[in-house]
Amino acid sequence: MENTRPRGHLLRPNTIANSIRVNLASNLNLNGIGSDATYANRRAALSRRSKSFADFNRRPLFTAAPSSFPANSVLNKPISTINNKKPIINQVPTTRRPLAPRQLTTITTKRKAEPPVSSVSSLKSARVPAKPANVKPTTSAAPPTKTIAKKPAPYDYKARFQLLQEKHQTLKSDHKEISDKYNKLNEDMAKYMEDSEKLKLKEQECHLKQTEIDKLKQELNVNKDSFNQCQSQLHQIQTDFDKQKSVLEECQQKFAEINKTYENLKSITDQLKDENLQLKAELTEKEQNIDQLVNQVFDADNERRRLHNVIQDLKGNIRVFCRVRPQLEDEVGKHLLEISYQDECTIEVSNGATITGGRRAPKQEFSFNHVFGETSTQEQVFLELGQLVQSVLDGYNVCVFAYGQTGSGKTFTMEGGFEQDTIGMIPRTIDLLFKTIEERKILNWQYEVRASFLEIYNEQIYDLLNNDQLPHDIRMTDARGVDVYVTNLQIEIIESSDELKQLLYVAQRNRAVATTVMNERSSRSHAVTKIEVIGTNTTSDETFHASLNLVDLAGSERARDSEMIRLNETKNINKSLANLSNVILALLQKKDHIPYRDSKLTHLLMPSLGGNSKTLMFVNISPLTECYNETLNSLRFAAKVNSCKVANVRKNRIM
Ligand code: ADP
Ligand code: MG
Repeated sequence: MENTRPRGHLLRPNTIANSIRVNLASNLNLNGIGSDATYANRRAALSRRSKSFADFNRRPLFTAAPSSFPANSVLNKPISTINNKKPIINQVPTTRRPLAPRQLTTITTKRKAEPPVSSVSSLKSARVPAKPANVKPTTSAAPPTKTIAKKPAPYDYKARFQLLQEKHQTLKSDHKEISDKYNKLNEDMAKYMEDSEKLKLKEQECHLKQTEIDKLKQELNVNKDSFNQCQSQLHQIQTDFDKQKSVLEECQQKFAEINKTYENLKSITDQLKDENLQLKAELTEKEQNIDQLVNQVFDADNERRRLHNVIQDLKGNIRVFCRVRPQLEDEVGKHLLEISYQDECTIEVSNGATITGGRRAPKQEFSFNHVFGETSTQEQVFLELGQLVQSVLDGYNVCVFAYGQTGSGKTFTMEGGFEQDTIGMIPRTIDLLFKTIEERKILNWQYEVRASFLEIYNEQIYDLLNNDQLPHDIRMTDARGVDVYVTNLQIEIIESSDELKQLLYVAQRNRAVATTVMNERSSRSHAVTKIEVIGTNTTSDETFHASLNLVDLAGSERARDSEMIRLNETKNINKSLANLSNVILALLQKKDHIPYRDSKLTHLLMPSLGGNSKTLMFVNISPLTECYNETLNSLRFAAKVNSCKVANVRKNRIM
């Protein structure tokens, strides 16, 4: 029996079926039928007393209607949100199972008056006025329809029960139908929810994808820019590349040319290498011979030096060269001496004066080692002197004097001018000295050259390289008294001829300044250029110390009355020149005592005037008649010196 079936599940909240059933029950004024409480009440009433049909309509049997559906129930949601589906309730009439004829009539009649509904709530509200729950049906108020079934009498419980049973059956089938629909709806809803969740996820995914796409779009834009940049760079690179390519091609072409040249050079180099090897072999061979040759040359050089010095000895250790200066431009018109040259060694001079009887005075004849006329050049004069310079490098002391009256050409001969043809004996000697030193290096000769410049004025020594005016004395270098030196004298070590010539220039300048300060000092002083040479032969261990003195003597003229003021000065000059003459004569006469120390000049030149030296004296004379007496004096003095022969000169050699 359906009535005995437990009804609890019908009242369970949260189910759409229950709520719809309750609503439907309410609409049909049978609210209390389905509930347990109503059912119990009804059974109790039946057992207590018989009630009229009106009792059922007078008070509602439904006492525990659900207050509300759960929040998540589909019925709390608007129908429109349910996937836009048409409300299922609208389909109810089409799918409803046909009711019993009586009931069908009633419902059909009622339906005719109902407007179509679009939702559960509208359906509910639409149905409420159709059959109000609390309206008590009256016979007068009954609807005028012929199809209404005859109500059973109140006492006809059987009929009423029958009727109720039919109603119950109808409701039951409705409930089932709705329940099915509800279940289907629930399934659809679940599916919908599931789909919705999926959709949501898809949407989120889509959103994420969209964000990603936006990001990628941005990146794409950035990349587009850089792509464009890269493209322009690429274009630039391409252009550069093309350029470089052409350069490379050029280079390759050049390289090929160079390679070709290289190949050529290589073959030449190989050829040269072969030649080099041949030459090396030859060189080795020649090197073997060279030692022999050096020895031979060394011997030959020794022989040459020996012969050279034999010749020099034969020429005399004291040689005198006479030099006549030409007439100067400012002397044009002055009387000239009658000078004639018998040979290169003899000079005849006459002033052309007449002597008693109207005869012309005889010419005076003088012989010297060499006579240089007015037209002689500095170069010609030096040819003779040069041989003595060689002797210095062989270890001999050499002394060169220029003797003569003032203006006769002493300074011109010794120092000369600055033009090539006027360069004097001292600079030429310096050049030859260093030239010969270079040449002799091959024979393993090494030389140290030292130079000093001094002036003897009024028996005082002055350093021409130093203006400090320090006191200078002549001292012996050793006890034997072979050599002398001057105290406080500046001595320079010379590396080249230019260096030495520069020093000579300084000395000349200093002498010129002194001359300006003291009138005509240069003509009254002796200028001494001293060049010392220390030679060493690394092969033979020979060593020597030789000196070359080049002396521009003071004017040999005698003092005139007008020059008495300088009497003392002149005395000193004459004394030193006279002493020079005495020394030379003493040497000539081979006296035991040689008065070197009687004057500063002879004392200073002692090593160069003694037996161990070669001396050359230039006697300079003027061509002017007015100088005739002084010229004769000079020539007589020089002739006397020339006749002085010093015994064989020894070299300053230490073996
Ligand atoms: P000293 O030194 O004997 O007093 P210098 O050498 O000063 O005489 O000569 C006097 C002048 O004569 C200078 O002007 C000089 O240039 C000139 N002189 C001397 N000798 C010659 C010569 N051989 N050739 C040309 N000029 C000369
Ligand atoms: Mg002079």
